[in-house]
Amino acid sequence: MLKFDESARIIASESRYVSGGVNSNFRLGMGHGPLVFTHGQGPYLFDVDGNRIIDYYCGMGAMVLGHSPAGVLQAVKDQVEKGILYAGQSPVEYEAARIICERIPSAERLRFGSSGSEVAQAAMRLARAATGRRTVVKFEGHYHGWFDNILWSTAPALADAGPGDDPVLVSGSKGQPREDSDGLDVLQWNDLAAVEARLSRGDVAAVLMEAAMCNQGAIAPMPGYLEGVQAACRKYGTILIFDEVITGFRLGGQGAQGRFDVTPDLSIFAKAIANGFPVAAIVGRADLMDMFATGGVLHGGTFNSQPVTMAAMIATQKALTPEHYEKSSAYGVRLRNGMRDALAEAGVRAQVTGFELMFHVAFGMDAPARNYRNLAGSDKAGYARFAKALLSRGVRVLERGAWFVSSEHDDDVVDQTLEAVRAAAKEVA
Ligand code: PLP
Repeated sequence: MLKFDESARIIASESRYVSGGVNSNFRLGMGHGPLVFTHGQGPYLFDVDGNRIIDYYCGMGAMVLGHSPAGVLQAVKDQVEKGILYAGQSPVEYEAARIICERIPSAERLRFGSSGSEVAQAAMRLARAATGRRTVVKFEGHYHGWFDNILWSTAPALADAGPGDDPVLVSGSKGQPREDSDGLDVLQWNDLAAVEARLSRGDVAAVLMEAAMCNQGAIAPMPGYLEGVQAACRKYGTILIFDEVITGFRLGGQGAQGRFDVTPDLSIFAKAIANGFPVAAIVGRADLMDMFATGGVLHGGTFNSQPVTMAAMIATQKALTPEHYEKSSAYGVRLRNGMRDALAEAGVRAQVTGFELMFHVAFGMDAPARNYRNLAGSDKAGYARFAKALLSRGVRVLERGAWFVSSEHDDDVVDQTLEAVRAAAKEVA
């Protein structure tokens, strides 16, 4: 069994300087405490205790090529020699833009940013400017960044969340003014009638959704749902925005929009777009996107299209070939199916749902969830014990049940993982 004593010692002592020892709240709260890593290679992270750990966080979904892919590192080394930040344009950003516009169905034009949270803001601003309306409809359990005007009902306690057919907005953090939710409305996802009824009031600027729900669970849209939402948006003059920050480049090379063949008006990407380098993009219809250039809609950012990150993005995108998806999907499917079998053999009641390169394990469930409320009955404490037992055996997974797979999680790594899964499942069953 692995030990994490040195990580614990460093976190305790460095908490003098860094609040809680971590630079994102999402890195708190793991079973063995936050870990301190020295380096990453392929499917592995190496920590200060000398442990080699199979990593299914994959940079919270960003590392679709695994840790330290040689091609991306070389592109970064080559570019960094040429300068760091020009506060002007460079050929690399235009090449990066062309790649995304040729690849993503909704991308007639784009703008780059540095994080998913900020391009979500840009998308809402654009939709409000284009429609002259204020309300953005979001969905319970969907996450679009940590800013005050959108961090609502991301993972609400059901006791606070109101009735399922008329949910209320619940803040995700202390310190969020209630007025900051005034421009939002929340609905259950995968319920087309609810969207149609809300949009029919004619005051909704945008519908913003993860086109497959991946922050809570890993849930596909019901057949016809995305098409139905798109039709309702067109009917009532509402902008449809897909948040592809997780689904982009994990559900396939064209994101969820390519996989489900529904093209939104706007979409946002981050995470895997540049395999761990801070690149985000808002993409969409030319008439909307040109409002940034000529329509009086402001979009800024000192680090936008920073050339080193652009070089990383180009190298990442070039590696995301059909062969990449075929190979890594085969690993992901083997792992997902093996997990299902291993948990069943150990007598653990669980649902394994989702996609090839991103799936979700929920304990204590007899049927797959189709929305956030269905997941509320899952055994979160039991799963957290399982995640801790896995980490003791050298496999790192998110406590919320998500598994991110990369092209480096080959058959050998999957075998090692399944062995740990069998032992951990026995321990917690
Ligand atoms: N949208 C989705 C779907 C996300 O999962 C995340 C982050 O996890 C964000 C937006 C925010 O992205 P970032 O953390 O880069 O600000």
